[in-house]
Amino acid sequence: MNHDKLAASAIELAASSSVSRYARQIRFAPVGEKGQQALGESRAAVVGMGALGSVIAQHLVRSGVGFVRVIDRDIIEWSNLQRQMLYTEQDVRALLPKAEAAANHLREMNSSVTVEACVADLTAANIDELLDGVHVIIDGSDNFSVRYLINDYSVKHHIPWIYGGAVGASGMTMTVIPGETPCYRCLFNEPPAPGTTDTCETAGVISPIVDIIASLQSAEAIKLLSGNSQALHRTLFQVDLWNHAWLPVSVANARRNDCDCCGHARFEYLNGQSSGPAAAALCGRNSVQISPSYPVSIQLDELAARLQPVGRVTANRFLLRLVLKDELTFVLFSDGRAIIQGTDQITKARSIYAEILGD
Ligand SMILES: [Zn+2]
Repeated sequence: MNHDKLAASAIELAASSSVSRYARQIRFAPVGEKGQQALGESRAAVVGMGALGSVIAQHLVRSGVGFVRVIDRDIIEWSNLQRQMLYTEQDVRALLPKAEAAANHLREMNSSVTVEACVADLTAANIDELLDGVHVIIDGSDNFSVRYLINDYSVKHHIPWIYGGAVGASGMTMTVIPGETPCYRCLFNEPPAPGTTDTCETAGVISPIVDIIASLQSAEAIKLLSGNSQALHRTLFQVDLWNHAWLPVSVANARRNDCDCCGHARFEYLNGQSSGPAAAALCGRNSVQISPSYPVSIQLDELAARLQPVGRVTANRFLLRLVLKDELTFVLFSDGRAIIQGTDQITKARSIYAEILGD
């Protein structure tokens, strides 16, 4: 290496040292060097790497949270690019699972953070493994069963979680600190009946609301992990961006002694009594997900060879994609989970799954 190169790498090393990288954040007095150190020693999980998760994970990684696990069950589609800030057209073309693509981008932003990608559907069966060892769980999911599951896990194991949701131009967020604040079920005891709430399919969504809710969630995570929990907003914070309405509703008195979860310690979702079915229509996607009832491991390349006569098939080490007639697409992950795109009929999807995999 010549002198110029040596000098250049020394400059890069100095510039990338944690003090330089986080200089502006450290200068912000409530964080300071102590808070920055605490962030670096923290572990966070982001559940769902869609629009909310894209923004949340970037804030965590750029601000220097030491370990970030990103969990998502899905692959990237063209319709995601309008609001899922982390992904590119190249990710869609490469047929990448969101968790893998996200982790690639996040590592480019900050190589000093350990980013772990989990391509998985968070369920009662795998939640212990997927959320093991984290200090905070941040909700980037798009469905209620996952939120009730996370709430159970959070209360049972005393790990804070930060709820967030957005649809149309509205959204809301709340931070649950077990033992201190109400839990999610204190406010919303049961999930809404299917079909009774707006979804991104029925009501659409604009990207700025997702960014705002995700940024509120991220700020809460940074407060928590940097030792500033006295600064948490402690409200059910609601935003209607179209009508410029910002409504923080205090939850100071919302904790219920008769709450099934945090009052009676009945973890119905964690215990699987209320867990979702093995086949489920995916919210707003004209797709059905099928999960195998027992653990499997599929050799995708071998299967791809066998499926050549069935339709146009492509595979990489993460998934196999088979284009069928009638505008149906079958996406299979190596753990046996499949997403059948082009239908919302569970029975039809099940029969396609059975036809292809013989299960
Ligand atoms: Zn509760």
